[in-house]
Amino acid sequence: MAGKINLTDELKKYFGFDKFKGNQEAIIHNLLNGGDTFVLMPTGGGKSLCYQLPSLLMEGTAIVISPLIALMKNQVDAMRNFSEEDGIAHFINSSLNKGAIDQVRSDILAGKTKLLYVAPESLTKEENVEFLRSVKISFYAVDEAHCISEWGHDFRPEYRRIRPIINEIGKAPLIALTATATPKVQHDIQKNLGMVDAQVFKSSFNRPNLYYEVRAKTGNIDRDIIKFIKNNPEKSGIIYCLSRKKVEELAEILQANGINARPYHAGMDSVTRTKNQDDFLMEKVEVIVATIAFGMGIDKPDVRFVIHYDIPKSLEGYYQETGRAGRDGGEGQCITFYTNKDLQKLEKFMQGKPVAEQEIGKQLLLETAAYAESSVCRRKTLLHYFGEEYTEENCGNCDNCLNPKKQVEAQELLCTVIEAIIAVKENFKADYIIDILQGKETSEIQAHLHEDLEVFGSGMGEEDKTWNAVIRQALIAGYLSKDVENYGLLKVTEEGHKFLKKPKSFKITEDNDFEETEEEVPAR
Ligand code: ADP
Ligand code: ZN
Repeated sequence: MAGKINLTDELKKYFGFDKFKGNQEAIIHNLLNGGDTFVLMPTGGGKSLCYQLPSLLMEGTAIVISPLIALMKNQVDAMRNFSEEDGIAHFINSSLNKGAIDQVRSDILAGKTKLLYVAPESLTKEENVEFLRSVKISFYAVDEAHCISEWGHDFRPEYRRIRPIINEIGKAPLIALTATATPKVQHDIQKNLGMVDAQVFKSSFNRPNLYYEVRAKTGNIDRDIIKFIKNNPEKSGIIYCLSRKKVEELAEILQANGINARPYHAGMDSVTRTKNQDDFLMEKVEVIVATIAFGMGIDKPDVRFVIHYDIPKSLEGYYQETGRAGRDGGEGQCITFYTNKDLQKLEKFMQGKPVAEQEIGKQLLLETAAYAESSVCRRKTLLHYFGEEYTEENCGNCDNCLNPKKQVEAQELLCTVIEAIIAVKENFKADYIIDILQGKETSEIQAHLHEDLEVFGSGMGEEDKTWNAVIRQALIAGYLSKDVENYGLLKVTEEGHKFLKKPKSFKITEDNDFEETEEEVPAR
């Protein structure tokens, strides 16, 4: 069937677009051919079309599982705009009353409905399962599929029930879509949805027009920010702070310094909040100081800078938030202020959460810290985190590439690290490996009798900082990897084994210094 239709014609006919974006066409072909499909695409890449168009071309109704009620309604309205037929798209969620549900059901049974959006908690309701069993289903789409993983930024336990429910309703091809692409999350999704053999379509997450910089956070941070804004007159920007209190304080400080800034956080009254947001979108206000509550679904193409006053909780968050700069392809400066003191502050925020969640939160935070402290190309580090290899020597658009640090030969150090990882049977994280190298007799090391290993204490000539740099850079270079099942356990890759047999040059740069600094009196 799929071979006969010209997809570009269908695209034009239904959506009015002239050509496909990125992988869309290949993705749609795969789905039309009945194959399970996994789509990793950054926000704005055009994921929705990957299931919307095939739903119109295939027999039956496509079930789209989506977490957000507001999102669902928008999507349904958008689909209805493309069609004469109101019944072409529907949603089922907890907001519908009995009469509305009956209408949805009768449209589906009459064969009018091509797309049915359901919230996961509605999908699992027995009465819905019962009904859907009688429906001809073209395929299932799982949107925001990272919700299935505790390592994604928005874990929803109901997502774990999708696969069993699909099995109950009836088999059909499955397409999962997400903009969170770490290898760990990808692994969890495919495993949980029972689609390890799916064809994977991954778009590049690189944003060449974004400039990345990490600055030391000192007592002068407010003055630094004021200076930055004054050097970038008439440019729109967002400043993210961790706490609501800081948002308000900083907005006031900026205003007192003649900058047209407004605060935005979830604790403000909704009238003021909406007004501040609208003023920013309408260019009446240049700078918005906000918590991460700001930005979801906001599409301002000419945001010229994004500043992180505090480091984000994860690199996914960092990528999303910095990603709001330069949507139009023009300049986008992403400046993050970092001090390792903030790590403790962020860890404190996590206290009181379930232990497993805290552990995950800590690991994600460590990844962010590693990124901040690294003197390797920011782009390379960031993309590596998302499982993408960036091969350019110098991206030309990050602080570390514009001011490269001197490199030192670390061939022997890497051999030592690899030996230590192998000696503990690839069952431990970086901190543990470093303790082994430093000959620290921690209780954990004693419990494993690892103080008897030959490698124990073999790295005492170097500081922790150096070992950290070796490990981080060996990960990026592909000599080591982190286990996807038990995240953080260091493994030696095939390349790493080859390296140990026949060592070659391995140059590293020392990590940047972000020592604790004295607080100074903030600018007025
Ligand atoms: P995502 O869900 O990946 O964030 P969307 O599905 O919301 O992205 O699509 C982003 C935007 O791109 C939407 O405005 C959509 O209409 C538009 N779009 C999608 N596909 C195409 C295409 N082939 N040509 C032009 N615009 C497209
Ligand atoms: Zn770079």
